[in-house]
Amino acid sequence: MMEVQITCTSCGSSIEVLPDHNATKVECDVCKHVQPVKFTADHEAGNLSECPVCSRMDFYKQKDFNRKIGVTLFLIAAILSIWTYGLSLVGLYLVDLFLFRKLAVVAICYKCRTNFRKLANLSAIREYDHEMNDRIVYSDHDFKGKPLSH
Ligand SMILES: [Zn+2]
Ligand SMILES: [Zn+2]
Repeated sequence: MMEVQITCTSCGSSIEVLPDHNATKVECDVCKHVQPVKFTADHEAGNLSECPVCSRMDFYKQKDFNRKIGVTLFLIAAILSIWTYGLSLVGLYLVDLFLFRKLAVVAICYKCRTNFRKLANLSAIREYDHEMNDRIVYSDHDFKGKPLSH
């Protein structure tokens, strides 16, 4: 099922939720700020077309690389490479290639930065676009899910 990570607008903490069309709000564990959400059956099926937090339709995807795990794995591989003549580093490269690059991709709402994981329609989400980001964040432009056109 799709996993949603909302950033609390009040204190900036992450709020992890699963889509539920009966839920109309989520509460921040840290500051108790209540955030309205609007989940649909589409969300429950793992399809992202409209943001449950801000109702925008513009998202980008990026690799969901967990920095801490990455650094730890690299250190282990580097130490092991003394005995494996560097083979562990090759192994790490392969793990990185298959695990992180292929599986873990996160979709992010340009407007409210809500993160979405395990999407069914990930292929429909486009790569990050710097110009779109600037226009949404600084000029509050709404692309309504359409790609940037000049
Ligand atoms: Zn909060
Ligand atoms: Zn949003």
